[in-house]
Amino acid sequence: MRALQMVDTKTQYGHIKEEVDQAVLEVMNSSAFINGPAVRDFATQLAEYLSVKHVIPCANGTDALQIALMALDLQPGDEVITPSFTYIATTEVIALLHLKPVFVEVDPRHFCMDPVALEKAITPKTKAIVPVHLYGQASPMQEILSIAARHGIAVVEDNAQAIGCDYTFSNGEKKKTGTMGAIGCTSFYPSKNLGAFGDGGALFTNDDLLAARIQMIANHGQSKRYYHDVVGCNSRLDSIQAAILSIKLRRLDQYNRSRKEVADFYDRAFADCTSLLTPLRSSFSTHVFHQYTLRVTDGSRDDLATFLASRHVPCMIYYPVPGHRQKMFDAFQTSATDLPVTDLLTEQVISLPIHTELDQEQLAFISNAVLDFFKRGA
Ligand SMILES: *Cc1c(COP(=O)(O)O)cnc(C)c1O
Repeated sequence: MRALQMVDTKTQYGHIKEEVDQAVLEVMNSSAFINGPAVRDFATQLAEYLSVKHVIPCANGTDALQIALMALDLQPGDEVITPSFTYIATTEVIALLHLKPVFVEVDPRHFCMDPVALEKAITPKTKAIVPVHLYGQASPMQEILSIAARHGIAVVEDNAQAIGCDYTFSNGEKKKTGTMGAIGCTSFYPSKNLGAFGDGGALFTNDDLLAARIQMIANHGQSKRYYHDVVGCNSRLDSIQAAILSIKLRRLDQYNRSRKEVADFYDRAFADCTSLLTPLRSSFSTHVFHQYTLRVTDGSRDDLATFLASRHVPCMIYYPVPGHRQKMFDAFQTSATDLPVTDLLTEQVISLPIHTELDQEQLAFISNAVLDFFKRGA
């Protein structure tokens, strides 16, 4: 059996090696390393795939979130509502821009923002809402968008974990995650569903004015060279990464299908295990399974992790410390925030290996190890 890994980008590369090597060589021979045609081509292809008007590539997902908030022209102290149960990048950029992160609960079934908690957290100072499509499934966007519209607040979607995911509105209309709010953000970190061979990110919007602002901010605040109208930053996707991403974008739906097949296998394997809650498939969203995250409801999550390590089965806790309990947010006294669902989830969740290269033998080995642990305990 091949060694088990949380992600296996090496085997995945093996399947597309010729195409990727050729594309990288082409960029090297052209020496158009920065803002070359490969970057423009990839942005156009991704915009088409997402059915969104503008895709603005940047250096990584964290930059995308930062640039999105900068483009909204917020004032120091303005409040930004976001889940505490997310990767730190989502919330870190809020504080970095001298805005105030306001943490709200997630729904314990789909792990994304709870719209009831969102509505309660809105104050006259709330200027943005950042839902996160966690683990590969959409936040309840219809509710979130309608609350935001009622209060005139912008929505920035953190789509780093859900590229390719489809959301269905109650009237049957479908949209890709990341294209529903004012701005969508994503990451091309190698382990993401659409991963580069290094860092990368992008912003999406249907708004022409916002697109122009985003472009300008990501490029030192200039729209004409050496004339800098606003304070910006330097955040670019390089041409080699863009060339590789174009090749992988053509396979994204297939990659997401492979992930779903892994999830289906695990779901079947754990269906009768009363100590485990398998991930919910929301009625309003497809699931692209960036992570396969179980809830261990009998208090044995950490023992399970230790047991799996002894069997050489990798697993991860995403995330062990929620945002509101991170030291970096002490200044906002966020540890006093009362988020019992989030706290419970950080004690219960465990993520198993999921990627495009897992075979039946590996899946059987992983799921048997999990089931053995609970048999042993019984
Ligand atoms: C990966 C990730 C990011 C940050 O992306 P980077 O490219 O690593 O900067 C932001 N938010 C979420 C939810 C992520 O998973």
